[in-house]
This record gives sequence, C-alpha cells and structure tokens, in this order.
Amino acid sequence: MRTAVTADIHANLEALLAVLARIEAIGADEIMCLGDIVGYNADPNLCADIVRSRNIRCVLGNHDACAAGLEEPDGFNPVAQRAVLWTRDKLTDENRLFLRSLPREQRVGDLFLFHGSIHDTNRYILYMNDALDNFTMLAAMGKSLRIGFFGHTHEKAALSFDHGAVSVELWPDLKLAEEKRYLINPGSVGQPRDGDPRASFLVYDTDGHRVTFNRVEYNVHACQDKIIRAGLPSWLAERLASGT
Ligand code: ZN
Repeated sequence: MRTAVTADIHANLEALLAVLARIEAIGADEIMCLGDIVGYNADPNLCADIVRSRNIRCVLGNHDACAAGLEEPDGFNPVAQRAVLWTRDKLTDENRLFLRSLPREQRVGDLFLFHGSIHDTNRYILYMNDALDNFTMLAAMGKSLRIGFFGHTHEKAALSFDHGAVSVELWPDLKLAEEKRYLINPGSVGQPRDGDPRASFLVYDTDGHRVTFNRVEYNVHACQDKIIRAGLPSWLAERLASGT
C-alpha cells in the first residue's frame, strides 16, 4: 500500500493541485495531511474544500487552530498574524467547522500523525533534544508505533532512533529498518522553507518499507498574484519564489 503524506498546504491552491496530480500519477491508496491547511496564502476555502471532499486524513495545525478561532495567534510574527486573521475572516462556516473538528493527533496502525510536536501543536522539532523528547513520547505510547509523521517546520526531515541514539537519515529515498523508530517530515506543500521553492511531499510504501521524498513544480506566479490582490503582506508572495 502506498500512502502519500503532505503537510503545511497553507492555502496555496496551485501547489496543492500540482501535488495531488503527482500523487494521482504515482497511484497512492491514501492521502494524509499533517496540519496547516490554511494560513499565509490566499485560497483557504478552496484548499479546505479539496481536503474535505477528497477525504484526506488530517490533523489540526496551529494556523488551522487560529483561523478557526480555537486559539489566538499571540505567538505569531506580525505577518503570519495578519494572514491568519484575514483567513479567519474569509473562512466559510462549513470550513470553520471542518477545521474545528480536526483531531490534534491521530494514530493509524503503526503511524502517529501530528503537526508540531507530540502533544503540542505549536512546538517545533528542530534540534536533537526535540527529536529525543518526541521519540521518548512515541515509545511511551506503545511498542507498535514505528513512525511519527510531523510538519510545522516546513523543511523535510528524516530522523531515526536506535539504542538511545538519534541519527539524521539521508533522502530522497529511505529504506526503513525493522528495529528503528522514525520521525519524518514531508516538507511543506504550500510554503517550503528549505531553499527549494517546489512543493514537497512524501510517499510511504508500506510493503517495501520505503519512504520517498518528492518535489513538484507549480505555478508560483499565480499564487503570488492572488496574495497581492487579496491585500496580504507582499513578503508572503516573495518568499514563495525563493522557498524561504
Ligand atoms: Zn505551517
């Protein structure tokens, strides 16, 4: 079985459609999203409509929580705050309720899906001690949990845990070892920050025990135009071109 894993779509319709087309070409059996469907870019409703209508298995992101009125964006930088309050204003009732209904984390067989950190949507996994904390929490939830999929940093990452030590694994193709646990971030669909502007996602092949990272080009200009026309901060458009 092939599972496509996406994260941080952030209301970027062009990137989302390009990723879904690639997933269709690859032939995935299921699509998952690790939160932040909305925020930053200008198509929150169309992106939420697609995620809902395609039954994409999804957890709540910090931008989703603020846009849906579950939290206030007090810790956000001024640009992110402006965008999330704009999004809150634009969301249809249907999409607000949809975002409010999302679980913060979800267990699916030997997978655990969450946005930022286990039990904390707003916290990042950036450093080795963050990874160690999350591997400890993953282990505490049961032996059968092998992989934690997370987003929030907008940078792809694959970390493994074996005999008390965390290692950084190499991409783009990762063969999973039976005895290890993994924390894996597919990168961001709608606002990559690793210097590569192409939309990012991964495919997990459960039979071959393999994770493959993918990048897809999309129409960045169309997305930028919408951001400017919507009156959102121009930096949000500029950063898409550089992937930062
Ligand atoms: Zn995000």
